[in-house]
Amino acid sequence: SKIRDGLKKTRESMSASVSAMLNSFTKIDESLFEELEELLIMGDVGVETAGRVCEELRRKVKEQGVKDPNDVYDLLRTIVADMLRGGEELKIGTKPSVILVIGVNGVGKTTTIGKLAALLGSQGKKVILGAADTFRAAAIEQLEVWAQRSGAELVKQTQGSDPASVVFDSIAAAKAREADVVICDTAGRLHNKKNLMEELSKISRVIQREAPDADREVLLVLDAATGQNAVSQAREFQSAAEITGIVLTKLDGTPKGGVVLSIREELGLPVKFIGVGEQVDDLQTFDADQFARALFE
Ligand code: GDP
Repeated sequence: SKIRDGLKKTRESMSASVSAMLNSFTKIDESLFEELEELLIMGDVGVETAGRVCEELRRKVKEQGVKDPNDVYDLLRTIVADMLRGGEELKIGTKPSVILVIGVNGVGKTTTIGKLAALLGSQGKKVILGAADTFRAAAIEQLEVWAQRSGAELVKQTQGSDPASVVFDSIAAAKAREADVVICDTAGRLHNKKNLMEELSKISRVIQREAPDADREVLLVLDAATGQNAVSQAREFQSAAEITGIVLTKLDGTPKGGVVLSIREELGLPVKFIGVGEQVDDLQTFDADQFARALFE
């Protein structure tokens, strides 16, 4: 499957080293848990989360009377799946619903919007894309290409125009054309946090005013290849917006896939989609069990 292929590098690095380590033990003792914790941290699971995983593992080993170190691998898979489960589904029941997509430049925001438009389009939904990253001319052009590719309609203004005004137009277009979902791009400047916060809160006010009863999602796009930096990036954005979920991109090119756990545990945010390639069908709805199976197969 695509998720299995996408997690190849993480599996070959983190999971393979965990498996080899467990194999080298003849019985389960404290040093096994310590080594495991270290390997998880090296796999970008994060110090806090790695500690929690091992704590849960100690508990389960004791509770179930597990004796064979190799059986720890299966337990680990179960714990990871349990940890990642919950909140994956996109809440887009109203017509229209509004999805705001945020994240710094280069993480794969535009590509994700295009893929998501195609995914929702394939489910029979009529999608409007709002080019509210008005800061970069290239962002508008890029989104236009994705609109054509995914069969979505694009709402845009000129470069430099007010992002909130583009969002206003997009919602108006969605109402007029009876679209199901509006997906809005936003500028990815994190270096000026005050501007970002002001821009995002202005956009939120427009959505609240123009579509008060609409289901809303605020998806933060993070690049898995940045590992633990993605977690600090998310914390920055959490102070500027009410994030409802994460899209984790570029899992296919990195051994740092363990960061998924860190995001779920430490930020308390569900991963809703993962990006496993550059093509239009390389966005996968996140499935905790499938993910854990692909990671620790
Ligand atoms: P933006 O600046 O955040 O809008 O980023 P873009 O959408 O332009 O993406 C930046 C680069 O990352 C492009 O070359 C994309 O093709 C690539 N990209 C995006 N998502 C993925 C993914 O899931 N996997 C891989 N391998 N590349 C991706």
